[in-house]
Amino acid sequence: MSYTELNNGVKIPNIGIGTYLIKSEDAERSVKQALQMGYRLVDTAHLYFNEEAVGRAIKESGVKREEIFVSTKLWPCDFENENAVEESLQRLGLDYIDLLFLHQPAGNYMAGYKLLEKAYKEGKIKAIGISNFEGKHIEEILANCEYIPQVNQVECHPYYTQEELRKVTEPKNIKIMSWFPLGQGDAKLINETIFTELAKKYNKTNAQIILKWHIQMGFLVIPGSKNVDHIRDNFNIFDFELTKEDMAKIETVNKHKKYLRGETLIKYFH
Ligand code: NAD
Repeated sequence: MSYTELNNGVKIPNIGIGTYLIKSEDAERSVKQALQMGYRLVDTAHLYFNEEAVGRAIKESGVKREEIFVSTKLWPCDFENENAVEESLQRLGLDYIDLLFLHQPAGNYMAGYKLLEKAYKEGKIKAIGISNFEGKHIEEILANCEYIPQVNQVECHPYYTQEELRKVTEPKNIKIMSWFPLGQGDAKLINETIFTELAKKYNKTNAQIILKWHIQMGFLVIPGSKNVDHIRDNFNIFDFELTKEDMAKIETVNKHKKYLRGETLIKYFH
């Protein structure tokens, strides 16, 4: 497995398991299996209603807490709640969170950002994250913050590679973490001819080619799954390297198009 150093010196695993739309009992089993296979990054959120299950999986896994990187998210209803970080820690059953995101640039997100900065100073969180923030939101944060964010978790996959956003994040070394990295399992994306060709060439699956592409693009990646075979396959991507030419071929499938538009996403989650 490989790691990335964030702009505050904290090291984060390049791949983790995502838990969106995964019910508690499945999340508990899947996260435990993932940790026992070697995963060291788990992504959850207040909105997913499975933070307690993720916390139980961490305890049951037998893996030391300090080896595991836990990311979770505050929902806009949390942004003006002084106890929101403490409540997340309680749901997880942990005494610190490795990376805490503001889930959406909605509501009073500047108040939310101040909560994260306070928790960061107190050592309750080790890194500050924003999610679904666009360039204009990031400029606002940068103009008003004490600590710059470490990660922006956004929709990102070979059909939508976030070129515009990266013009704002890369100069500040704010890392992109890809959600919907496999297009939420979209068969059209996964079965694009280029991935089938490269899967044959490297003796890997199409999904493994896509996940390796994310990492070689410099993105952190958190494929979601409750299927043990997929969880295993998604982690088995560290024994090959895509050539520059093959990375360039993957660029040709870019449609510059998201599955979910920002406004849809905010409405959808309210
Ligand atoms: P994804 O692109 O990771 O796709 C997940 C789906 O792909 C699974 O349900 C499964 O059906 C399929 N899949 C997984 N592994 C596969 C494999 N090896 N072969 C074939 N199919 C496979 O989408 P996701 O889970 O929604 O996104 C990843 C994670 O990102 C989430 O679990 C969550 O943690 C996070 N997320 C964050 C936001 C946000 O607003 N911050 C939004 C959506 C998701």
